[in-house]
Amino acid sequence: MTATRIVILGAGTGGTLAANRLRRMFPPSQVQISVVDQDDRHVYQPGLLFVPFGLTHPEDIVRPRGNQLHRDIDYVRAHIEHVDLDADVVHLQGATSLPYDVLIVATGARLLPDETEGLTGPGWMEKVFTFYDLAGAGALEGAFARFDGGRIVVNVVDLPIKCPVAPLEFCFLADWYFTERGIRDRVQLTYVTPLDGAFTKPTASKLLASMLEEKGVDLVTEFNTGTVDGAGGRLVSYDDREVPFDLAVVVPLHGGAEYVGRSPGLGDELNFVPTDQRTLQSSARPNVFVIGDAANVPASKAGSVTHFEGETLVENVRHFLAGEELEAGFDGHANCFIESGFGKAMLIDFNYDHEPVPGHYPGPIGLPLLKESRLNHLGKLMFQWFYWHSLLPGREIPGINPTMPSAGKARVAEPAH
Ligand SMILES: Cc1cc2nc3c(=O)[nH]c(=O)nc-3n(C[C@H](O)[C@H](O)[C@H](O)COP(=O)(O)OP(=O)(O)OC[C@H]3O[C@@H](n4cnc5c(N)ncnc54)[C@H](O)[C@@H]3O)c2cc1C
Repeated sequence: MTATRIVILGAGTGGTLAANRLRRMFPPSQVQISVVDQDDRHVYQPGLLFVPFGLTHPEDIVRPRGNQLHRDIDYVRAHIEHVDLDADVVHLQGATSLPYDVLIVATGARLLPDETEGLTGPGWMEKVFTFYDLAGAGALEGAFARFDGGRIVVNVVDLPIKCPVAPLEFCFLADWYFTERGIRDRVQLTYVTPLDGAFTKPTASKLLASMLEEKGVDLVTEFNTGTVDGAGGRLVSYDDREVPFDLAVVVPLHGGAEYVGRSPGLGDELNFVPTDQRTLQSSARPNVFVIGDAANVPASKAGSVTHFEGETLVENVRHFLAGEELEAGFDGHANCFIESGFGKAMLIDFNYDHEPVPGHYPGPIGLPLLKESRLNHLGKLMFQWFYWHSLLPGREIPGINPTMPSAGKARVAEPAH
């Protein structure tokens, strides 16, 4: 009997944890697992937030990809060229190919800074930066260390983005950082967003807006950035509003991986992959599943979401191979620590159907929700250890379930009809 071939595209958060969970589920004699990635640097992306403030360093948040995968997983280092859905084959750069019985797409989201006029033009990496990749976060550390006063804008060009709270955390940490350096009164901080509030979820949005105000960060809403004029030091919106800056921190437009666009039938216009939001099966083919940021599901693009998707994904691959009905198991569960500066953080927990509410997580005795605390800050710092040692290896984290818990949470008032 020949082994079933599972090919996983991407060895980031989702690809790694899915591969390790599947390896535990099926013996190598029954299922052969191959994971493809274009490079060998697995970045702990939540750590990028801390690099510009000197709180961590690029070398502390990067590990080789192969070391995160079980030894009975075949790690293929190659650039994916395209997928032929009719032939069940992945084509890699260099004219090699990988046939599959089941394909798992885990190639995440890609930054598209060139899509915004001027963003990578004059001033890029001199006074216009992003902290969403290693090079940008590292360069920003130097620029912040040299900054001795003026206007800093933090701008989200458009949604969806990875970790939608990260730009807000960046503002809170910048307030802390310049206070520590004793020059906060010389630094004007402005958060510029295309949303009509600080965040998407109404309860959290109100709280986050009041925190920005308390910390003296100006909020500019409904600003759709058309041009970043690095030389002139201004953001210009499509409706001709302007926000001046001396230093800009921009979160660029995101899209799915480029090869998705070269794979007929696989992706949408942004190269994300249309996916059933509860089973994680793609709309393209029954034998194609999707995990993490690559999916077009209406959940946050976050490592926590990717982690919670893991269990449903591997169970449904098992059901598919056994010819059984799939489970509608994923509920959109997301939780995010929101670093708020001065050694504190908040935590929010929500899913497709429920907004973040106050209370505790994961039960009545747990971390405080929608409230700043030192405990949450420690939770955020400890998460890096859990990421490498528990989440990526695909081990259960004690007390943490993939579905959103309601114990310990305040009830939300039913909307008036
Ligand atoms: C600044 C920042 C802060 C964040 N903070 C948090 C946080 O606090 N909490 C949280 O839960 N999440 C956070 N996230 C989000 C989290 O890191 C991502 O949601 C998560 O890593 C998604 O996992 P993924 O497997 O979908 O994608 P990734 O982990 O990005 O992996 C995708 C992989 O696909 C590979 N790939 C892509 N195209 C190709 C190709 N053509 N050929 C070969 N390989 C390819 C890439 O090299 C990459 O390794 C943050 C992200 C950023 C940028």
